[in-house]
Amino acid sequence: KVRVYNFGNGTSDGSSAMKNLLGSKGANLAEMSNLGIPVPPGFTITTETCSEYNQLGKDKVVSLLMTEVKLAIATVEKRMGTTFGSAENPCLLSVRSGSRVSMPGMMDTVLNLGMNDNSVAGLIAKTGNNRFAWDTYRRFVQMFGGVVLGVGAISKEDQNPFEEIIEKFKKDKGVELDTELDAEDLKRMVSDFKALCEVQTGAKFPDDPWDQLWASITAVFDSWMNPRAVYYRVMHQIPEEWGTAVNVQAMVFGNMGETSGSGVAFTRDASTGENIFNGEYLINAQGEDVVSGIRTPQQISLQGSKKWATLAGVSEENRKTQYPSLEELLPNTFKELNTTQAILETHYNDMQDLEFTIQEGKFWMLQTRNGKRTAAAMVKIAVDMLTIGMIDEKQALLMQEPSKLEELLHPVFDSEAIKNAKVLAKGLPASPGAATGQIVFFADEAHKYTDSILVRIETSPEDLEGMNIAKGILTARGGMTSHAAVVARGMGKCCVSGAEKININYKTRVMTIGSHVFNEGDWISLNGTTGEVYEGKIKNKDAELSADFDTIMNLADKYRTLGVRANAETQRECQNAIKFGAEGIGLCRTEHMFFEGERLARIREMILSTDEAGRREALNKLLPIHRNDLKEVLRAMENLPVTIRLLDPPLHEFIPHDLENQKEMALEMNVSVETIIQKVDNLKEFNPMLGHRGCRLGITYPEITEMQARAIIEAALELKAEGIATHPEIMIPLIGTVKELKLQKQLVKTIIEKVFEEKGDSIKYLIGTMIEIPRSCLTANQIAEEADFFSFGTNDLTQMGFGYSRDDAGKFLPIYIEKGILKVDPFQVLDQEGIGQLIEIATVKGRSFDPALKIGICGEHGGDPSSIEFCHRIGMDYVSCSPFRIPIARLAAAQAAI
Ligand code: ADP
Ligand code: MG
Ligand code: MG
Repeated sequence: KVRVYNFGNGTSDGSSAMKNLLGSKGANLAEMSNLGIPVPPGFTITTETCSEYNQLGKDKVVSLLMTEVKLAIATVEKRMGTTFGSAENPCLLSVRSGSRVSMPGMMDTVLNLGMNDNSVAGLIAKTGNNRFAWDTYRRFVQMFGGVVLGVGAISKEDQNPFEEIIEKFKKDKGVELDTELDAEDLKRMVSDFKALCEVQTGAKFPDDPWDQLWASITAVFDSWMNPRAVYYRVMHQIPEEWGTAVNVQAMVFGNMGETSGSGVAFTRDASTGENIFNGEYLINAQGEDVVSGIRTPQQISLQGSKKWATLAGVSEENRKTQYPSLEELLPNTFKELNTTQAILETHYNDMQDLEFTIQEGKFWMLQTRNGKRTAAAMVKIAVDMLTIGMIDEKQALLMQEPSKLEELLHPVFDSEAIKNAKVLAKGLPASPGAATGQIVFFADEAHKYTDSILVRIETSPEDLEGMNIAKGILTARGGMTSHAAVVARGMGKCCVSGAEKININYKTRVMTIGSHVFNEGDWISLNGTTGEVYEGKIKNKDAELSADFDTIMNLADKYRTLGVRANAETQRECQNAIKFGAEGIGLCRTEHMFFEGERLARIREMILSTDEAGRREALNKLLPIHRNDLKEVLRAMENLPVTIRLLDPPLHEFIPHDLENQKEMALEMNVSVETIIQKVDNLKEFNPMLGHRGCRLGITYPEITEMQARAIIEAALELKAEGIATHPEIMIPLIGTVKELKLQKQLVKTIIEKVFEEKGDSIKYLIGTMIEIPRSCLTANQIAEEADFFSFGTNDLTQMGFGYSRDDAGKFLPIYIEKGILKVDPFQVLDQEGIGQLIEIATVKGRSFDPALKIGICGEHGGDPSSIEFCHRIGMDYVSCSPFRIPIARLAAAQAAI
């Protein structure tokens, strides 16, 4: 078995087709090398080895790798003309993680590996550059110490101890930039860094390059299981089995002086999608400096540089002297970079995110990958590429990540409200959107408020979870390619980065902007599209959808075969549903219409009644209101099918459970509190979700079903009289035996016939059922005899199929996921393996009786892309989901059909 794949010098053992085995970074390094793009030579240890590592442990895997790694190192040495561990001509290495899909910054990287007191002398002898050699050494100790040895801040309010030492050196010397420290300073810093490591670890800092190498390789494997990587995988549903590859590569040095540097670039704008090559770099720096916000990065292109200066309030004079673009500073290198980016984008047919380093004017590529982007950019890039014929329609659709579309539908700041808002500061528009919230300074406190804004000097990979929880992110340092910016764009989270006017004190938990002082909990607002930071809260308004969005949606409709409906109960929801492209309502939960004012009072009156006569009296009063509510929905959905579900929840949900509200209710209903308390007691059930609910209500209280059937049909007939065509579909919930359906259906039909007679008119309608009890799946052929349609209620089906109470699962599901018993929450992503079988059985059995039986799904899963793919595969007619997920469903349905 081969565990190590070489690349470099215009050849490689791998290619971009081998992402599963080599990880995305390794596969693309191999591909670039094959394309003749300059890539420092190196090798990739496979992702399979990571799985072996997790099973067999460190020692076993190191011995399995020993021979191959030694050989591969020898190849790198030959290609570079250097020797690993040599005191005269040392070969330095980078050790980099890289899984199948990019997980930016989640796992570990160690640069400048191989540095020790011997090799620093060798480096000086070879380059004659003292400062460079010691800078490289101190970088190595800092990174190896932090990443491999785990040396870091003791508490979250403390600064990173390495940074603290650097700060102290700069202060003592009275300089601002790390580039202003000289060789002597850096030499002393190395010994301070080592001392720090030895104090924190209680062991000597390892000097032997081979020890360093194995420790780093195994640290990268270990980092696959670190908490932030685990969290990222859960968030993006990345399986643990995939593992990470390890890339070991010869170092090239961006820190060799004024003609060296490092940078990050995008072939198109990752925020807006515009076809503009852009990026950031730093002179005399290694790559980590650009993303970590240590210095303000400079723009690669002249155009970008000018735009940046305007945003940052830097004069043209200052820009040219202090922050010149790469295009101005090293025009030849810029040209080479520009040519390479074009080659790579055309080769991969997608927007690329590039990492490069310049060593004394010579240009090297270190990474390329499909760039993370906002939803707006995702849509625009695909449409632009389609327009010029770079990709075809199917490719354009497959380039979309359905769940991301939700970003586009979310509100933006109201333009009137913005005019009166006070701008506190301006940063870079790192990730678009509007966010209003209360300030928190630490990621693990983001949950403190329902709407929080995470305010940081800069963010780091540990902050991932908090960034996800916060409504928006504001950083004082860092550019468009900083950690905060890249991660926020990936999450679709509003972010303003590098707002340099902001001062943050973590210890006192205070942010100051000029004379304004803000404490934790104060409200601010961010506009990630303009980079503006505002005082207080700002009103929102609905998002406007772009023409490119329409283009993609129309394409989706062209390819999908699955219908898409909405779950909705109000006129406004219906309007949204139609705006987003729903072809009907798949679930109108009538109980949602009963929770307010007069309606609730009548329902309560019915519940409090002791006999049928009393219940009928209350229901009679509810009838005209219910009819009107239904009319609104049916009217909004003119010409489209509307599935109306009869009352489903247990009745106790309509009665308050706390004394305060019970007193209020007693007053309103003109009864004693005791009566109410007694009723509550009466309705109490041990397992309400398995109790007196669904069709069981209609069977025990037929008058409820009768009233609802009448309201639906009267509403439809009244609309018909107005010339409005409707297609009501009456849905009986929670059927477990065909007899239940038969009885309820008879009842509904009898009432409908009566209404037809009264009105002297009639209308077409359907009567169907929800399939949400396992028994109904297994007897679906019988149920189909009575049903015009099936709609899978996968929330209950999951609940009953797993035997997990939906309302109590929060206590154990996270642990189940952590322990790997479940991969994801089955209430969010349909369990195709188990619950999916129930659905398939029901579909096959149902259609064995009636091949044309209409089948849909209306649980939460109807808006989840992987579940939608399943629904398409087993031949459902439609999915139904919340209005805001309709575009996601249309796209996911199209992808399933391609
Ligand atoms: P991540 O996956 O977090 O981006 P990388 O493995 O890409 O981590 O490494 C981070 C940065 O380290 C790179 O962008 C690059 O600037 C620098 N780097 C990695 N390998 C080398 C190398 N061989 N020579 C010089 N710099 C390197
Ligand atoms: Mg990288
Ligand atoms: Mg249900």
